[in-house]
Amino acid sequence: MKKIAIIGGGAAGLAAAIAAGNELARLGAAGECEIVLFEADPERVGRSILATGNGRCNFSNAHIDPACYRNAAFVEAALRSLASLSKASGRGSAQSAGALEVPCRGSAQLAGAPKAPSQASTQSLGAYEIPVREGVHFASAYEAPVQRFFSSLGLIWREEGEGRMYPAANKASSVLDVLRAALDVSGARVEFGKTLRAIEAPARGKSRFHLRFSDGSIAHAEKVVLAVGGRGMSAVEMPSAIPCEPMRPVLGPLATDSRITRQLNNIRVKCAVSLERSGSLVAREEGELLFRDYGVSGVCVFNLSRAAREGDVLSIDFLPQMSDSDRDAWLLARRKHLSTRFGENGQIAAEDVLRGAMLPQVAQVLCKCASIDPARPLSKKDALALSRVIGGLRLAVRGIGDAKQCQVSRGGLLVAAFDPQTMEAPVLPGLFAVGEALDVDAPCGGYNLHWAWASGLLAGASAACGVVVSADGEGEGE
Ligand SMILES: Cc1cc2nc3c(=O)[nH]c(=O)nc-3n(C[C@H](O)[C@H](O)[C@H](O)COP(=O)(O)OP(=O)(O)OC[C@H]3O[C@@H](n4cnc5c(N)ncnc54)[C@H](O)[C@@H]3O)c2cc1C
Repeated sequence: MKKIAIIGGGAAGLAAAIAAGNELARLGAAGECEIVLFEADPERVGRSILATGNGRCNFSNAHIDPACYRNAAFVEAALRSLASLSKASGRGSAQSAGALEVPCRGSAQLAGAPKAPSQASTQSLGAYEIPVREGVHFASAYEAPVQRFFSSLGLIWREEGEGRMYPAANKASSVLDVLRAALDVSGARVEFGKTLRAIEAPARGKSRFHLRFSDGSIAHAEKVVLAVGGRGMSAVEMPSAIPCEPMRPVLGPLATDSRITRQLNNIRVKCAVSLERSGSLVAREEGELLFRDYGVSGVCVFNLSRAAREGDVLSIDFLPQMSDSDRDAWLLARRKHLSTRFGENGQIAAEDVLRGAMLPQVAQVLCKCASIDPARPLSKKDALALSRVIGGLRLAVRGIGDAKQCQVSRGGLLVAAFDPQTMEAPVLPGLFAVGEALDVDAPCGGYNLHWAWASGLLAGASAACGVVVSADGEGEGE
């Protein structure tokens, strides 16, 4: 029997296994090929999913923009390929099932899949009945296949700020639950405690890859979907034909000059942060920033960490709702107002002027940075100097602050070696790579998991299709 081996049972691997199973069923070839998911974890798949989104799993985004991904052109082509898999069936417009169909079209009805409320309001996707309400706005081609995949699994979600999508149950476990139920139905077999050490290309004239595991065991498969994630990738020995970049953590906190940050350790502020290099703006983010004794953290810092280099400068604007001139005018007016009403001899201290605009600890530190004693009367000149610091506290970047907190790894398999139509390596047909194993990453907001599901679905369906089409590999000894 032929074999599809999926290596890694995280987000991308689970999507790949489910899609492969469904595609084999759709092609009536489930009995001709087995799907085996090899997972390093000794007892469960999808453990990595449980930690995402602070345990809530921000599993996708309602506004996927390929431009925000590293290797954007490759990602865009892959997302388009996934969307066009459904178009290939020749059904419907962008608002109907044809364009939204996902490649997981099986003969089995999934446990928990939504029941069709009426003929007129449903679209049949193989055996999945997915309700499509009249007039409901459906996502663009970039989001739709993943949304339809989860809808078909029975997941209900809600959208939060900036299009972030979370399961309605507000628990990452509910995403994993529907995936595990679908995995059971897909017919894939899971082998736990199997850590891939090396992939060897098929010998000349043969079609089976050799998979060597750290426990000394070997497996063979016609199709291999590599879904080991970023951290897993650094420990896998690849065939030399597949170029690979060393992995490094990104999407995490930044280490900075800590003289200031350690005085504000554990304080959160809503602010705007600009990343500057040689006096030029590299990127800007608004949101919550968390001061740490080693530097800064928070979603806006995580996003900037994708572009940050040692020697860059972070400039923090504590009152981003005001322009420079508005802030100057506000400080001067407030100083004048307070000193007239409450000041001793018509004078007022800086800490009194800043009261209500920011936490006292933050005000103290900003005054110190502007070389002002917060308890002393604030002169007009000092007020303008303080305004400059409030609008742009500058911190020198030293690098990633805490690699363990980083959400993704950059590097891994170079996308140039893979075909975004299928996720297969043209130089080594039969080898597919998905998710974070590839050199693709994106900002916070559900984009990284979206990529994992989308690339996994595409590779799983393509591998299943390929194994059925190919007549090779039968009868090869293991
Ligand atoms: C704390 C945290 C929070 C995050 N939150 C979000 C979020 O809310 N939204 C979002 O979009 N992204 C989030 N991410 C990023 C997201 O989790 C990843 O981008 C995504 O999980 C990548 O999926 P993957 O399947 O490629 O890899 P993974 O999910 O890492 O899965 C890899 C799997 O392969 C297994 N494995 C590893 N090596 C081997 C091997 N050699 N052999 C066999 N099996 C192996 C692992 O055990 C694991 O099960 C978060 C990341 C972290 C760390």
